[in-house]
Amino acid sequence: MKYVLVTGGVVSGLGKGVTASSIGVVLKACGLRVTSVKIDPYLNTDAGTMSPFEHGEVFVLDDGGEVDLDLGNYERFLDIKLTRDNNITTGKIYQSVIDKERRGDYLGKTVQVVPHITDAIQEWIERVSMIPVDGKEDPVDVCVIELGGTIGDIESMPFIEALGQFSYRVGPGNFCLVHVSLVPVLNVVGEQKTKPTQHSVRGLRGLGLTPNILACRSTKPLDDNVKEKLSQFCHVPVANVITLYDVSNIWHIPLLLRDQKAHEAILRELNLMGVVGEPMLDEWTERAKICDTLLEPVRIAMVGKYTGLSDSYISVLKALLHASIYCRRKLVVEWVPSADLEDTTAMELPDAHETAWNALRGADGILVPGGFGDRGVLGKIIAAKYARENNIPFLGICLGMQIAVIEYARSVLGLKDANSTEFDPNTKNPCVIPMPEGSKTIMGGTMRLGSRRTYFQDGGCKSVKLYGNVGHVDERHRHRYEVNPDMITKLESAGLSFVGKDETGRRMEVLELPTHPYFIGAQFHPEFRSRPGRPSALFLGLIAASCGQLDGLLRDPPRHLHGMATANRGTQSAPPKPLFNSGFYLKRNGVHA
Ligand code: GLN
Repeated sequence: MKYVLVTGGVVSGLGKGVTASSIGVVLKACGLRVTSVKIDPYLNTDAGTMSPFEHGEVFVLDDGGEVDLDLGNYERFLDIKLTRDNNITTGKIYQSVIDKERRGDYLGKTVQVVPHITDAIQEWIERVSMIPVDGKEDPVDVCVIELGGTIGDIESMPFIEALGQFSYRVGPGNFCLVHVSLVPVLNVVGEQKTKPTQHSVRGLRGLGLTPNILACRSTKPLDDNVKEKLSQFCHVPVANVITLYDVSNIWHIPLLLRDQKAHEAILRELNLMGVVGEPMLDEWTERAKICDTLLEPVRIAMVGKYTGLSDSYISVLKALLHASIYCRRKLVVEWVPSADLEDTTAMELPDAHETAWNALRGADGILVPGGFGDRGVLGKIIAAKYARENNIPFLGICLGMQIAVIEYARSVLGLKDANSTEFDPNTKNPCVIPMPEGSKTIMGGTMRLGSRRTYFQDGGCKSVKLYGNVGHVDERHRHRYEVNPDMITKLESAGLSFVGKDETGRRMEVLELPTHPYFIGAQFHPEFRSRPGRPSALFLGLIAASCGQLDGLLRDPPRHLHGMATANRGTQSAPPKPLFNSGFYLKRNGVHA
């Protein structure tokens, strides 16, 4: 096993995750199989209890792990499926060491940061890097380890110490350290400044780690003399100083690395030169180009809690982007803070109310993403009603689906106080209720999480066709509430159709409004499995419906979009290989499922 460690210096938010993922892409494009480990030096055991508005989205894995959003980057870029253990946090490491101590495994020794915590970190990395993540059975070739935070942070010290020991243990030729840093340009003189990078490399060295490659973020390519200076002061060959200058879209980053021969620098450090081929990045090149040339917009209103941090919905945005590129449209996301659609805002903040309504009315499609808590719920209900009544394509995800049910119960069934008990525990018409197996007291890791199967009930519905005429799909979940099974008959006789259910037939997974051009709700989060070359079915449906392409798509469903790429050579799209047979429907509980 070979290891590439990616650290960050100078400031946070340099795009270390995207850089590390792109390194993985280039290595994969050379023919190597790649996995990744993300280290988050915070104390939380996982990202599950962290606010997406502070820390960005909580990404959910197949195994139900609630992890840092960078794991989403890795899964999307490398087309792999990671496990919860691929995200290490300080909390997880300490918990494992404390558990061992309580079991008496340390045989009376004093348990300390060095060596016990540092050993636990190394063992964890070694163990997790061996887990195959690309559908094959044997371990992959290279593990990209991303250390979160910035060199010098107090919290990352045990990890740095552990990684220093680790690099020594695995030995030269098996370990390559890429340090991502910033080369700022002072506007007054327009000069590219190397000092911050010098300082951060000095910090890194002081902690026992030697960078092999410098990946410098800057606005423009680095001047040759700047590269030489960095090489001299940071003891890194000039050929190993790479510039990650600003590009028009992220698909360019692997290309930028390849063009500067970053793969050669890495392969040289890993003793793999001549063992693998040249990177084949045709699909990435084409996608980067297409993305730059798209002009005709597709406008999607995202109706949620908007706080200015677009990372809060990053997988949803990526899924919309993948689908838009497939439909050859330029994605324009209109952020609509749901509370601004409400009547009370019209009184208190008339401008905000008008802006929100203009954005909603100007949209080709409407998306209500997942969420928790009652802020802005009424606005989301208003948006669902607007989409339903005006035949505007609508996709409701998780909370968004529950909102669609509440709206239907209120407007069509006339149950004015219909609600989710999450928002009104005393409602007389609870159409969304807690799942019996959930916990209301322990918040971390107690939801219905991860990959669960949905069985389709109706072979003619839009979602079945979009998924490529399959009997069932596995998608990722993260919820505590569900549509009240006792209200299904009423809702269905009023025209709402629950076309996807779980294996018991009592839990609603997908709803559709057959009389509407595209009105779909999913209890799961399809965004987590969307890939650049294989957009998620329901997102593709939304975008296609929003730009007049849905009929064609339903006539000729993109079967090859489903399943997971298993080709290990390059990052070309998977050969058409449907995971599920088309045209068959499982019979369960007496219904076609
Ligand atoms: N709050 C809702 C639930 O727990 C929806 C969750 C979500 O959208 N992820 O069921």
